[in-house]
Amino acid sequence: SVKLARRVTNIRVSPSTAAAQKARDLKAAGRNIVDLTVGEPDFDTPDSIKNVAIEAIRDGDTKYTPVNGTVALRKAIQQDYATRLGIECALDTICVGGGAKQILFLALTATVEKGDEVIIPAPYWVSYPDMVVANGGTPVILRCGEDTGFKLTPQALADAITPATRWVVLNSPSNPTGVAYTAEELKALGEVLGRHPHVLVLCDEIYDRIWYADFPACSIVSVVPELADRALVVNGVSKSYAMTGWRIGYGAGPKDLIDAINKLQSQSSSCPSSISQAAAAAALTGDQATVTETVEVYRERCERAWERLNAIEGLSCVKPDGAFYLYPNCSGVIGKTTPEGKKIESDLDFVIYLLESAGVATIHGAAYGLEPYFRLSTATSKEILEEGCDRIERACKALR
Ligand code: PLP
Repeated sequence: SVKLARRVTNIRVSPSTAAAQKARDLKAAGRNIVDLTVGEPDFDTPDSIKNVAIEAIRDGDTKYTPVNGTVALRKAIQQDYATRLGIECALDTICVGGGAKQILFLALTATVEKGDEVIIPAPYWVSYPDMVVANGGTPVILRCGEDTGFKLTPQALADAITPATRWVVLNSPSNPTGVAYTAEELKALGEVLGRHPHVLVLCDEIYDRIWYADFPACSIVSVVPELADRALVVNGVSKSYAMTGWRIGYGAGPKDLIDAINKLQSQSSSCPSSISQAAAAAALTGDQATVTETVEVYRERCERAWERLNAIEGLSCVKPDGAFYLYPNCSGVIGKTTPEGKKIESDLDFVIYLLESAGVATIHGAAYGLEPYFRLSTATSKEILEEGCDRIERACKALR
């Protein structure tokens, strides 16, 4: 067998990918499964965007691009950050990569040394801790429970910072909870960071167009502009424009960090796909009506599922500000017994029960660093969501 490097053996395959695979396997075996694991839009990429990509192919826009992305796409990003977030950045402080995931990974590769700490509020997107470990760093997981709306408080941040802290991760709206930080909350976190100039801020705002809250989406850099020289503001087209397979994400930040990310990219992937970049530029600069329409659909589905889950005895769910996930608390079913006589001792037991006895696939909260919860995606049709909620309701009622 091949002897693998510790940086690989120390990390896991994404639990959400594993759960989605299990649901697909059961379906393939003929089981009727309602799959609520998948964290990607169920819409197709809009035709106007696809057409730009087809034209790009026809026009011969099929070669290597600059390592940091085409000027057209970086201008589109620059314009978007300025108009939506009030963040002004120069074209050479923006980098484009193969998805937000790649930008986040390269940012850590560029900065994290062995023993460096990265503060990750939990519940977190499953990839952050493993990305830190893969780059030799130490994830410092901060439990952010429902009592603080699943959010990092200034006090918790201040208490967690050490001389070894390199980054703090802020994901707003969050996967898995959907909660987002308000301008006031970001300002208060910014004040703490003001006292610790060695800490960088990794802002993952990939869901910030899928927004339901009655306060506006904002970035910590919008409210604390002094942080611009140590924050990386990451976004992408995957979620907002139903373009997960096109693999385009980007970041804006201090020039030395962006240069380092570009250097790594120049020696790994060279550049993201020229065709996808043309499509992404069209997505950002084109008519945003489709985004507005799809967000309305996401909002309706999310509200409906949220109401239904909250009506189920044993479950309770915080209302999301954005994104397309729900993260219900299932402490009310822990300790109960299934009709088959098995005791539910953890959120993993509950999720397995839902899958095996009710045919609903979700992901257990422990995978996101906070128990006992489970995550379900609302990026699926109303009918499937209703059926999923019916099944969860029946399964919960059957517990003793
Ligand atoms: N950040 C968060 C919080 C996500 O949930 C995801 C995708 O699931 C990503 C980043 C990655 O997005 P991309 O497709 O741009 O790599």
